[in-house]
Amino acid sequence: MRENSNDQRDERWPREIGDRADCPECGRRSVVPVVFGYPGSELADAYERGDVVLGGCVISPGYDPTVRCTACNWSDADRRHPEE
Ligand SMILES: [Zn+2]
Repeated sequence: MRENSNDQRDERWPREIGDRADCPECGRRSVVPVVFGYPGSELADAYERGDVVLGGCVISPGYDPTVRCTACNWSDADRRHPEE
């Protein structure tokens, strides 16, 4: 219901399948977009290559990561997770 949720997207992170970014946790270039929804064949191929993470596999209640590291499993939602 938040109108400004788009503002919270971080410009640093990849949005296109095939794009990668450096992981702030492990430093490897393994941060890939998280894609929600039913994976078509193109998405399934990208998933096989490790170029994308399927949101349905990693979703946590209340948090919606937009990117995730395939090496250490870090996601941008982790930053917002209150560890208390
Ligand atoms: Zn990592």
